[in-house]
Amino acid sequence: MIYHEVLVVGGGLAGLRAAIEAHDAGCEVGVLSRVHPVRSHSVAAQGGVNAALGNHPDARDDNPEKHAFDTVKGSDYLADQDAVEILTGEAPARIYEMEHWGCPFSRTEEGRIAQRPFGGAGSPRCCYAADKTGHALLHTMFEQTLRRGIKVYEEWQVVSLAVADGRCYGVVALDLKTGRLEAVRAAAVIFGTGGAGRIYARSTNNIINTGSGMAIAYMAGVPLKDMEFIQFHPTSLFGNNVLMTEGARGEGGHLLNALGERFMEKYAPKAMELAPRDIVARAIQTEIDEGRGFPGGYVHLDLTHLGAERIMERLPAIRDIAINFTGVDPIHEPIPIQPGQHYFMGGIDTDADGATEVAGFFAAGECACVSVHGANRLGGNSLLETMVFGRRAGAAAARFVKDGADGVGAEKAEKVLTAAMAEATRRVTWVLEADGPEDPAALRDELRENMFTNIGLFREEGAMKAGLDKVRELRERFRRIGIRHRGRRYNLDWARNLELEGMILVAEAIAAGALARRESRGSHFRTDYRERDDRDFLKHTIARLTEDGPELEYRPVTITKWEPKARTY
Ligand SMILES: Cc1cc2nc3c(=O)[nH]c(=O)nc-3n(C[C@H](O)[C@H](O)[C@H](O)COP(=O)(O)OP(=O)(O)OC[C@H]3O[C@@H](n4cnc5c(N)ncnc54)[C@H](O)[C@@H]3O)c2cc1C
Repeated sequence: MIYHEVLVVGGGLAGLRAAIEAHDAGCEVGVLSRVHPVRSHSVAAQGGVNAALGNHPDARDDNPEKHAFDTVKGSDYLADQDAVEILTGEAPARIYEMEHWGCPFSRTEEGRIAQRPFGGAGSPRCCYAADKTGHALLHTMFEQTLRRGIKVYEEWQVVSLAVADGRCYGVVALDLKTGRLEAVRAAAVIFGTGGAGRIYARSTNNIINTGSGMAIAYMAGVPLKDMEFIQFHPTSLFGNNVLMTEGARGEGGHLLNALGERFMEKYAPKAMELAPRDIVARAIQTEIDEGRGFPGGYVHLDLTHLGAERIMERLPAIRDIAINFTGVDPIHEPIPIQPGQHYFMGGIDTDADGATEVAGFFAAGECACVSVHGANRLGGNSLLETMVFGRRAGAAAARFVKDGADGVGAEKAEKVLTAAMAEATRRVTWVLEADGPEDPAALRDELRENMFTNIGLFREEGAMKAGLDKVRELRERFRRIGIRHRGRRYNLDWARNLELEGMILVAEAIAAGALARRESRGSHFRTDYRERDDRDFLKHTIARLTEDGPELEYRPVTITKWEPKARTY
């Protein structure tokens, strides 16, 4: 049986940062990822990463406390403030570390790391590498992983977590190249498995962002937190929803409706296009719904006034994408955009060290909910979260291993893994041999459309109930799927359908959480309860999986310095 002291699942920024930290703390580490690490979704991040460095001439007095306040306000006061203070306090150190590791950040005239304005931030504090920040960060992080000789299993897909008596012993994974299942024993497991964007239609996310880590943890008894909070990015390309970074507005881009009006002045007169994402996305959708959009449902992101030089220097990838996918050159014409699903504020319930209620099981990055984003994440805070909490999870896992806190021998661990292996074998074989009438691809499309339509930007009891019923119907129909390809080697039909049930379970947790939250807060906007209700809902939703679906409980929000106030921009 394969064994690692610390096993990291996920080759994105969170997973690799955790692996580096556990390695440097003296642990023997393995990383397992369903794609080559640099193909993880982190590579697609465009706009930048926040840290109060004070390099911008308009923000010399910036500091972590201001960054924390912006984050708390942006979260609509649902973020845990102690965790936010960790996030913003450790931010400068993480950015300088990446700089020292060779990350090619864009520079100011004096040679400092350049910073641009971003939505919901009081001052320009978003560090960037043109509009390819994720690419620069992930390649740097992967170099550090290689440099340390950390073992990486590429194209291995975890299918289950081996948990017994509140303790995690490892995972069962499918080696996609051979189609073999393997049990991987570990003294500590860290998930950095990313988001679940692909549960929604119109997503800006990579096709592999199916939330499989969240689902695997949830099925193993680990609760999910605040799943009803889904971020819709204001500006995704009309037609295919490829992201057009917030950096485009940070550089001065305008949003215009079909009448040529800069409509944000009605919704956020001070912050305008740089209000937080929930507000801008709803403003765009309102313009479209009320007939002031263009036919088909989009508005314009106009960069033409920025000039060719600035666009080529600061937003080259945005320009390429717009030209290649829509034939529009942003130097000369405005870009057609609409809101698209973008990010999961919720995830696996963890503390600020990535620990979950299962001993030896940690999570960090987009798959986890600490929570630092509350009901709405600020742009640039997610890349930051992967590094701050990836590092902390790696350190905590190493402490757990070194303290010998597990107190169990290999014999017990192997027994648990053998049982997990038998169960996983039953399940994967069932999917490989499934020959029912239901087409799983159609089920997936119905799921995604249902979530976007019924539990999307604007929510209401009747539609959400219909959405939840539909999710339950899909769960039933999943039992009657048939798959086309029965080979074991690199069978992506098999691999993708293995996780479809998990996508449905995660969708059910989202729907249940959203229905129960009878208020509007951040990204969760209800047309039937339009106000925030701090008396009844200033609390985190915790969903546990039971035979009858998710069971919800609530936990208070940690407030350190900032009492909830009205949120205006
Ligand atoms: C287009 C786009 C642009 C963005 N731009 C920004 C930005 O400018 N600034 C910002 O702060 N945030 C941005 N974000 C958000 C941010 O990029 C992500 O939240 C963050 O990179 C997630 O990192 P991660 O390490 O948690 O997960 P990911 O980078 O998604 O990595 C997940 C890893 O888990 C592995 N994995 C998943 N499931 C399994 C499994 N079952 N078995 C094995 N391996 C598995 C995958 O192979 C992958 O390696 C953007 C997001 C998108 C989609």
